[in-house]
Amino acid sequence: MTLWTMDYGLWTGTVLIVLFLSLAGCAALTRLRAHPRGLIAEEEASVLDDGHEDYVGVIHVHTTASHDAHGRFEDVVRVANAQRLDFALITEHNTLKPLRDGRQGWHGAALILIGMELSTRGGHYLAFNVTEEIDRNRLTTQQVIDEVNRQGGLGFIAHPYFKARRWTDWSVAGFTGMEAYNVAHDTLDENRLRLILWTLTAPAEPFYFSIIDRPYDPLAAWDELIRRHGRVVGIGSTDAHEFHVLGLKFAPYDVMFQLVRTHLLIPSDELTPERVYDALRQGHAYFAIELLTEAKGFSFLADNGAQVLGLMGDRVALAPGLRLTISLPAPASLTAFKDGRPIATSAAGHTWRLPVTEPGVYRVEATRQGKPWIFSNPIYITPPDEAPAPEDQPTAPPSDAGSPPPATTPTDIPPAAP
Ligand SMILES: [Zn+2]
Ligand SMILES: [Zn+2]
Repeated sequence: MTLWTMDYGLWTGTVLIVLFLSLAGCAALTRLRAHPRGLIAEEEASVLDDGHEDYVGVIHVHTTASHDAHGRFEDVVRVANAQRLDFALITEHNTLKPLRDGRQGWHGAALILIGMELSTRGGHYLAFNVTEEIDRNRLTTQQVIDEVNRQGGLGFIAHPYFKARRWTDWSVAGFTGMEAYNVAHDTLDENRLRLILWTLTAPAEPFYFSIIDRPYDPLAAWDELIRRHGRVVGIGSTDAHEFHVLGLKFAPYDVMFQLVRTHLLIPSDELTPERVYDALRQGHAYFAIELLTEAKGFSFLADNGAQVLGLMGDRVALAPGLRLTISLPAPASLTAFKDGRPIATSAAGHTWRLPVTEPGVYRVEATRQGKPWIFSNPIYITPPDEAPAPEDQPTAPPSDAGSPPPATTPTDIPPAAP
């Protein structure tokens, strides 16, 4: 643990400087033009108002109440406020101690909510909106999920492909969603030895930037879980620990809180814990790697040109004139997926329209300056005569339980789930 955490921290400590320089250089050099292939670019098109506010925050944060974290609760509060985050969801290992200590609530302009990360037999599971401790040693993974739901909570499969803590029980049901991106998995888990060598011999920042990549396996698993269960909500998790070694901070919150953030779409200008949990349950959410460019203002809607029919996480019945509208706060390349398969791409631009003529699960990914940037939750287009399902039910039992979603090989496009 110590070896990799030290290396991880050394490397992240100065990454912001290089990334800032990279951004400045790329912005000056790159003037992108739209070359749509399958998507219809409408650079100046206006986008309908969906009536939701975009709240941004971080999910999956550890502090001193976890055995392997050194950052303090006060540090989380300070950084969340400094970065103008609306919320932070703290998840200590197997304990709700900060909740018992009365830490949940508003701290400055940030809403701090307390959940926990449960080490179940099948892997790590994030639980939110729970108030009672859960003895995960006496329960199966499914029983842990059920207990979270019994308390009125919601839960997410954590870092399913992290080597030492893989998710192994794919037969479970009743979970709300999964981490489709986890910072520790992407940056650390796959590069530990190289990181150690690099840190000992040369400045590590360019390497850190270079290894951020699309989370192929988690995304393939997410698409497969949606196929099995219906709606499965994807989140991006920071999994920040902030390690203090010899007076130095490694993997500090102020870096980790920019690596990935989750945005929640909430139909109110007042944030409450219930509205955070509702948005997570409904998948009214997207997540973004914001080292270079903040993502606030991204939208992905189903509309008919006159009115909004649904947003990320919603089920929308197929109808004549139905289209998807994607709008970005900065120019980026875009790929649209249907049922896990890429169906259209565009080189760069701000706004796209995509006519929809078939039911399916549609989501989009934006890439900026060669790196993944924004990942939407899906819009679920149903057959015209299909009654909408309840909007807050957890995942249904799988149609083919047991086998894990396949790991992919890193190619440009992940193979479709069988
Ligand atoms: Zn974990
Ligand atoms: Zn964790």
